[in-house]
Amino acid sequence: MNGTAASCDLCVRIARTERGENPFSVARTTTGYVNLGDIQYHEGYTIFVAKRCVNELHELAKSERNAYLREMAVVAEAVFHAFKPRKLNSELLGNGAPHLHWHLFPRHAGDPAPRGPVWGDPSFGRALAGSTVPAPEDLARLRGCLLAALDDTNLSIERRFA
Ligand SMILES: [Zn+2]
Repeated sequence: MNGTAASCDLCVRIARTERGENPFSVARTTTGYVNLGDIQYHEGYTIFVAKRCVNELHELAKSERNAYLREMAVVAEAVFHAFKPRKLNSELLGNGAPHLHWHLFPRHAGDPAPRGPVWGDPSFGRALAGSTVPAPEDLARLRGCLLAALDDTNLSIERRFA
Protein backbone atom coordinates (compact mmCIF):
# COMPACT_ATOMS: atom_id res chain seq x y z
CA MET A 1 0.00 0.00 0.00
CA ASN A 2 2.61 2.55 0.98
CA GLY A 3 5.37 3.71 -1.28
CA THR A 4 8.31 1.37 -1.07
CA ALA A 5 10.33 1.88 -4.24
CA ALA A 6 13.98 1.64 -3.20
CA SER A 7 14.95 4.04 -5.97
CA CYS A 8 12.43 6.71 -4.98
CA ASP A 9 13.76 9.51 -2.75
CA LEU A 10 10.35 10.10 -1.20
CA CYS A 11 9.83 6.42 -0.42
CA VAL A 12 13.23 6.42 1.27
CA ARG A 13 12.13 9.44 3.31
CA ILE A 14 8.86 7.76 4.26
CA ALA A 15 10.82 4.77 5.55
CA ARG A 16 12.99 7.15 7.62
CA THR A 17 9.85 8.86 8.90
CA GLU A 18 8.33 5.56 10.02
CA ARG A 19 11.57 4.71 11.85
CA GLY A 20 11.29 8.06 13.66
CA GLU A 21 14.43 9.34 11.94
CA ASN A 22 13.03 12.26 9.94
CA PRO A 23 13.02 15.47 12.01
CA PHE A 24 10.90 17.20 9.36
CA SER A 25 7.95 14.81 9.66
CA VAL A 26 4.93 16.07 11.56
CA ALA A 27 2.03 13.68 10.99
CA ARG A 28 0.68 10.76 9.02
CA THR A 29 -2.90 11.04 7.79
CA THR A 30 -5.10 8.51 6.02
CA THR A 31 -3.55 9.20 2.61
CA GLY A 32 -0.21 10.87 3.24
CA TYR A 33 2.56 12.40 5.31
CA VAL A 34 2.75 16.01 6.44
CA ASN A 35 6.38 17.11 6.46
CA LEU A 36 7.99 20.49 6.85
CA GLY A 37 10.27 21.34 3.94
CA ASP A 38 14.01 21.01 4.46
CA ILE A 39 14.48 24.64 3.42
CA GLN A 40 12.43 27.08 5.46
CA TYR A 41 13.10 30.12 3.27
CA HIS A 42 9.30 30.51 3.27
CA GLU A 43 8.55 29.93 6.94
CA GLY A 44 6.13 27.05 7.26
CA TYR A 45 6.85 25.51 3.85
CA THR A 46 5.14 22.13 4.06
CA ILE A 47 5.06 19.08 1.80
CA PHE A 48 2.14 16.67 1.78
CA VAL A 49 3.46 13.38 0.39
CA ALA A 50 1.07 10.67 -0.78
CA LYS A 51 1.45 7.30 0.92
CA ARG A 52 1.31 5.61 -2.42
CA CYS A 53 4.22 5.88 -4.85
CA VAL A 54 2.53 7.01 -8.03
CA ASN A 55 3.42 9.82 -10.40
CA GLU A 56 0.00 11.18 -11.35
CA LEU A 57 -3.26 11.80 -9.52
CA HIS A 58 -5.19 9.65 -11.99
CA GLU A 59 -3.06 6.64 -11.03
CA LEU A 60 -4.79 6.57 -7.66
CA ALA A 61 -8.11 4.78 -7.35
CA LYS A 62 -10.89 7.34 -7.51
CA SER A 63 -11.85 7.08 -3.84
CA GLU A 64 -8.21 7.33 -2.74
CA ARG A 65 -7.58 10.25 -5.09
CA ASN A 66 -10.59 12.11 -3.72
CA ALA A 67 -9.49 11.45 -0.15
CA TYR A 68 -5.94 12.63 -0.89
CA LEU A 69 -7.21 15.84 -2.49
CA ARG A 70 -9.60 16.48 0.37
CA GLU A 71 -6.83 15.96 2.89
CA MET A 72 -4.51 18.22 0.90
CA ALA A 73 -7.06 21.03 1.13
CA VAL A 74 -7.35 20.56 4.89
CA VAL A 75 -3.57 20.40 5.36
CA ALA A 76 -3.26 23.59 3.29
CA GLU A 77 -5.80 25.31 5.51
CA ALA A 78 -3.89 24.19 8.60
CA VAL A 79 -0.64 25.56 7.14
CA PHE A 80 -2.41 28.86 6.52
CA HIS A 81 -3.71 29.05 10.09
CA ALA A 82 -0.39 27.97 11.58
CA PHE A 83 1.84 30.42 9.72
CA LYS A 84 -0.54 33.23 8.74
CA PRO A 85 0.92 34.11 5.35
CA ARG A 86 -0.30 36.87 3.08
CA LYS A 87 -0.98 34.16 0.47
CA LEU A 88 -0.61 30.39 0.30
CA ASN A 89 0.64 28.65 -2.86
CA SER A 90 -0.27 24.99 -3.50
CA GLU A 91 1.72 23.18 -6.18
CA LEU A 92 1.70 19.60 -7.45
CA LEU A 93 4.72 19.21 -9.71
CA GLY A 94 6.72 15.99 -9.38
CA ASN A 95 9.21 16.69 -12.16
CA GLY A 96 12.13 15.90 -9.88
CA ALA A 97 10.57 13.16 -7.74
CA PRO A 98 7.93 10.96 -9.41
CA HIS A 99 5.90 10.37 -6.23
CA LEU A 100 2.84 12.56 -5.62
CA HIS A 101 3.58 15.42 -3.24
CA TRP A 102 2.04 18.85 -2.76
CA HIS A 103 4.25 21.83 -2.06
CA LEU A 104 2.47 24.25 0.28
CA PHE A 105 4.32 27.57 0.30
CA PRO A 106 3.30 30.32 2.72
CA ARG A 107 4.06 33.61 1.00
CA HIS A 108 4.73 36.11 3.73
CA ALA A 109 4.90 39.88 3.79
CA GLY A 110 8.39 40.82 2.69
CA ASP A 111 8.54 38.10 0.04
CA PRO A 112 10.92 39.59 -2.56
CA ALA A 113 8.92 38.29 -5.54
CA PRO A 114 5.32 38.09 -4.31
CA ARG A 115 3.61 38.06 -7.69
CA GLY A 116 5.35 35.05 -9.21
CA PRO A 117 5.89 31.39 -8.30
CA VAL A 118 8.57 30.69 -5.70
CA TRP A 119 10.77 29.04 -8.32
CA GLY A 120 11.36 32.37 -10.03
CA ASP A 121 12.86 33.96 -6.90
CA PRO A 122 16.67 33.79 -7.22
CA SER A 123 17.10 34.11 -3.46
CA PHE A 124 15.02 30.99 -2.96
CA GLY A 125 17.11 29.22 -5.58
CA ARG A 126 20.25 30.09 -3.65
CA ALA A 127 18.65 28.89 -0.41
CA LEU A 128 17.78 25.56 -2.07
CA ALA A 129 21.29 25.18 -3.43
CA GLY A 130 22.80 26.01 -0.04
CA SER A 131 20.56 23.49 1.75
CA THR A 132 20.55 25.55 4.93
CA VAL A 133 18.39 23.57 7.34
CA PRO A 134 16.56 25.26 10.21
CA ALA A 135 18.08 25.28 13.70
CA PRO A 136 16.64 22.53 15.94
CA GLU A 137 14.78 25.04 18.14
CA ASP A 138 13.22 26.69 15.08
CA LEU A 139 12.23 23.32 13.66
CA ALA A 140 10.62 22.35 16.97
CA ARG A 141 8.63 25.60 17.04
CA LEU A 142 7.43 25.17 13.45
CA ARG A 143 6.47 21.54 14.05
CA GLY A 144 4.52 22.51 17.16
CA CYS A 145 2.64 25.27 15.30
CA LEU A 146 1.73 22.97 12.43
CA LEU A 147 0.68 20.04 14.59
CA ALA A 148 -1.55 22.31 16.71
CA ALA A 149 -3.21 23.62 13.55
CA LEU A 150 -3.66 20.08 12.20
CA ASP A 151 -5.26 19.08 15.50
CA ASP A 152 -7.78 21.89 15.02
CA THR A 153 -9.05 20.29 11.80
CA ASN A 154 -11.19 17.21 11.20
CA LEU A 155 -8.24 15.34 9.67
CA SER A 156 -7.80 11.77 10.78
CA ILE A 157 -4.24 11.73 12.11
CA GLU A 158 -2.88 8.20 12.29
CA ARG A 159 0.47 9.08 13.81
CA ARG A 160 2.18 12.18 15.20
CA PHE A 161 5.89 12.62 14.72
CA ALA A 162 6.32 15.94 16.54
ZN1 LIG B 1 8.01 6.74 -3.95
